[in-house]
Amino acid sequence: MKVYKFGGASVKNAAGVRNLARIVAREKGELVVVVSAMGKTTNALERLVSLSLTGEEELMLRQLGDIRDYHFGIVSELFPAGHTFIENKLEAMLGQILACCKAALVEKPEYDEFYDSVVSFGELMSTRIVSYVLDREGTQNICLDMTKLLVTDDTYREARPEMEKSQHSLKSFMESNPARVYVAQGFIGGTESGRRTTLGREGSDYSAALIANMLDAESVTIWKDVPGILNADPRLINETTLIHELTYFDAVELAYSGAQVIHPKTIRPLENKHIPLYVKPFMNPEAEGSVIKDTTAKPIDVPVFIWRKNQVLVTLRAKDFSFVLEDSLNRLFETIYRHRLKVSMIQSSAITVSVCVDKSRYLEAALKELSEDYRVTFNEGLSLLTIRGTTPEIIAQHTEGKTILLSQTTRRTARYVIKE
Ligand code: ASP
Ligand code: MG
Repeated sequence: MKVYKFGGASVKNAAGVRNLARIVAREKGELVVVVSAMGKTTNALERLVSLSLTGEEELMLRQLGDIRDYHFGIVSELFPAGHTFIENKLEAMLGQILACCKAALVEKPEYDEFYDSVVSFGELMSTRIVSYVLDREGTQNICLDMTKLLVTDDTYREARPEMEKSQHSLKSFMESNPARVYVAQGFIGGTESGRRTTLGREGSDYSAALIANMLDAESVTIWKDVPGILNADPRLINETTLIHELTYFDAVELAYSGAQVIHPKTIRPLENKHIPLYVKPFMNPEAEGSVIKDTTAKPIDVPVFIWRKNQVLVTLRAKDFSFVLEDSLNRLFETIYRHRLKVSMIQSSAITVSVCVDKSRYLEAALKELSEDYRVTFNEGLSLLTIRGTTPEIIAQHTEGKTILLSQTTRRTARYVIKE
């Protein structure tokens, strides 16, 4: 059994979906195809959620109309003669979304849970379309409903999978519904009581890894719009190098530093079972791409640059001259954890701690709480630049003319919080 994952960019239009079908048709063995929402659908659904909660019915209806047109546009390009089967399926799901949003106008539900109940439809729609296209092109398959098969807790918007229960559900479903190819939604799951959940933005890679872990897959392949894992984001650096092989350890470090190429949570479920992860270009499926695995004989021999954007540097100073690290460290981290802040870097001195975190909608509440214990200052709109395997010349070249608010260096890695 192999797992293939296709992100939103790979299924953003009819040509993308046809390309996916071609890639899937090359594989003759057992396969689970994990698919994200099409193009920027998740962002569009996020806006729909906000409009419903702020009570802007007209804009909400227009937004849902745009989402509908986008999906029907792809379907009508795929099937110019029309295909009522898939159109009816989509129409039914859009009807459910509309019902959820209309109810929300009145009931004003809690944000996170409502978000998951609506945003999960991005993947539910994309997988229906993909599964249907695969069928029509001769790849018989079964579309799995991960809101039933990936059992999670009810931490809405960042649900945690219950591995044993999920494995049981997934395996027994597959045993009673045998097929060579399955199509599954990335990013979404459901609680035991039947509520839809999501695993956190960009979480489809993580879903692919979880499925691979549960099914003891021989490999996972993430099909992307880049040739593989590069030593820097090509949008930010002119000359990039493809890294052919990485260890799980390297990959975790890169993902944590902010490399967009894989979701940080993806590695652990794979490392546990020694399942290799391939990253390959969907426009050139023959290409070698990159592989992430236990060990490599070819350690990375180029400097690696990673930017983690949208950072906020929070500085906490004890109000009473106590030592923050000794006296209140667990309270500090408990607050950070409870408000789901993602910490990218920490530095401390006698009575201050600086914590660099991703900007998030929970930050304000966390800062408010922290200001009961500390004097809190913060700086927004920052980037965290991580350079691995570097030299002083390279560092100088990339930090020149920039305001560095905080830096941390080890023998292999230099990290800078930068105001650009
Ligand atoms: N569709 C979700 C998102 O855009 C999950 C994913 O793409 O991985 O965040
Ligand atoms: Mg996406």
